[in-house]
Amino acid sequence: MKFNTKTIHGGQKHEASTGAIMPPIFQTSTYAQASPGQHKGYGYSRSANPTRTALEDSFAAIENGTHGFAFSSGMSAIDCVLRRLKPGDHVIAGDDLYGGTYRMFKQLFEKYGLKFQFVDMDSTDNVRKAITEKTQLIWIETPTNPLMKIADIKEICKATKAINSAITIAVDNTFATPYLQRPLDLGADIVMHSATKYLGGHSDLIMGALMVKDASLAEELHFIQFAAGAIAGPMDSFLALRGVKTLHLRMQRHCENGKAVAAFLSSHPKVETVYYPGLESHPNYSIAKKQMDDFGGMVSFKLKDQSKAAAFLFLENTKVFALAESLGGVESLVNHPVTMSHASIPEAERLKIGITDSLIRLSVGIEDIEDLIEDLDSALSQ
Ligand SMILES: *Cc1c(COP(=O)(O)O)cnc(C)c1O
Repeated sequence: MKFNTKTIHGGQKHEASTGAIMPPIFQTSTYAQASPGQHKGYGYSRSANPTRTALEDSFAAIENGTHGFAFSSGMSAIDCVLRRLKPGDHVIAGDDLYGGTYRMFKQLFEKYGLKFQFVDMDSTDNVRKAITEKTQLIWIETPTNPLMKIADIKEICKATKAINSAITIAVDNTFATPYLQRPLDLGADIVMHSATKYLGGHSDLIMGALMVKDASLAEELHFIQFAAGAIAGPMDSFLALRGVKTLHLRMQRHCENGKAVAAFLSSHPKVETVYYPGLESHPNYSIAKKQMDDFGGMVSFKLKDQSKAAAFLFLENTKVFALAESLGGVESLVNHPVTMSHASIPEAERLKIGITDSLIRLSVGIEDIEDLIEDLDSALSQ
């Protein structure tokens, strides 16, 4: 089955009793049993719920996995992966992570004795050199948020597994989505999503996802999901499933609009730098071209005027682009990483990697491109 068919039909069955095309919202906590322990595969909704199952099967299909898991947020999906580790274990992560991921690693898990090392994953060598006997997990984000750096998933997997095949490699695929890149096919063990973003796609829910292709890893993750309990509810599962069915159409337009916005900003006299992996001037353009089928709808840029006041003037004056946290919905959003999405990263760390006051991040939506460009042009002329 090809990708555009998978988003609609992957893992889906028509509902058994009525033939309903979409799964009903099984708004139930429990299920009647014929005899103790004898049920139809559903005992209690923390363990499994049929609406969530339909979504989890869809999640598995679109990432070319065998098992999918839906969580109450992207953060709880990451939490599930980290709960596999034990005190003393070493984790290697990218140095330009989603702010909440960095915060979870440093402020929640360091105190349980996990050791985190952040490296620039632009170069596979940096990852290889960081691996020790204690390394249990490599956490990759690509493209990164907000600087759009690209890590070579296939090379990192190959280099890591050659040193120790037991090291788990997880990829946060939120920005690219499986429409653009499929980490399990490139050698990763776990794919993670904030389904809040492109998979849901309509800014109407908070959800996380994990996808894997190994049965014993799936069993471990399901045990943690069940035991810790951060599951997606049936209503949200229904909404996310509806979102996934148009992922390919939305992504196609996000990519077209993203490319046009990146080109417009690149030639604008008030713009200093544009961060978009589809620009030939991007330092990792060749990896992006090899690894991704297109370049997505996330575009960051820096203004020539590096003051916070200049950035704020722009941010207060867009009309179609709403100033808001989050990304990946049909509507265009604009974000100021320093004060919004990345405020939880200490200033020194932020400046070291280039998250400055003049950095602005756009989630380019699927509106008419003429309206988006006009909006940016008008806000830049303030
Ligand atoms: C939003 C986001 C998360 C966290 O997901 P939530 O659904 O907000 O909990 C993790 N990684 C990336 C790249 C994100 O954009």
